[in-house]
Amino acid sequence: MDDFRGAADLLRKSRHVVVLTGAGISVESGIPDFRSKDGLWSKFDPAEYATIQSFRANPAKIWRMLLEMDSLLAHAMPNAAHYTLAELERRGVVEEIVTQNIDSLHQKAGSRNVTEFHGHARTLRCDRCRLKYGRENVSLESIPPLCSCGNALRPEIVFFGEDIPADAYRRASMAAGKCDLLMIVGTSATVAPASYLPQLAKGSGAALLEINPAESELTYRMTDLYIAQPAGKALPALLDALDVVNH
Ligand code: NAD
Repeated sequence: MDDFRGAADLLRKSRHVVVLTGAGISVESGIPDFRSKDGLWSKFDPAEYATIQSFRANPAKIWRMLLEMDSLLAHAMPNAAHYTLAELERRGVVEEIVTQNIDSLHQKAGSRNVTEFHGHARTLRCDRCRLKYGRENVSLESIPPLCSCGNALRPEIVFFGEDIPADAYRRASMAAGKCDLLMIVGTSATVAPASYLPQLAKGSGAALLEINPAESELTYRMTDLYIAQPAGKALPALLDALDVVNH
């Protein structure tokens, strides 16, 4: 039996609640995670298509994957998990979300304090002249899309092999270091350096609450309370349990 009452108690007692999300929270919105058996990543191996070295070597090839990702993201809507986190922020329960996702679904659901650890796909950038373009201002009729300087544009996501944007890294580390509860939703916690954030929080005295239908690297090593359910089911149930605890 999943301990929603215990999780609600943890939430109620904590003063600084930070949420770390990963690809799993968006699976119920139709965006596959790296582990999904079908979908984007069964067609395009991330080890081959999601590295900066591959992009630099052959932008047109990597844009074949990015084009499919773009269409997936354009049609994806937030699910109950994203909406519940936005509601928890509105209620002053959740302070900040640190997401590894690039899909903007937290913001679409109404969350305001979101740190995007791996960037986002709302803008495209030229790595040569640093010009930025809103995604809506760039045609993808022929790929790769080009900057006015002639160089291939890339989305402002973090490819494997690239550094985390300095501001996002600083904000996420500060959030993990100061929280007293880290809720970890839908991440395998295997992609560094995001995978160090739970360790940082735990080392600073925070409790870890994990929501994931499958056990992760953290579950038996670090997690204090584990809820083995999909986020779209678990988070609304947690909100209900919180209402009960508060009355
Ligand atoms: P991952 O693919 O390594 O792991 C996803 C985790 O989510 C798994 O542990 C899985 O059991 C869990 N999961 C699956 N369905 C779930 C559900 N309904 N509810 C809760 N959990 C569920 O993802 P990761 O740890 O985020 O790392 C992968 C990297 O890939 C990240 O850097 C991320 O940026 C990127 N990515 C992003 C997206 C996106 O933006 N939506 C999608 C795919 C990959």
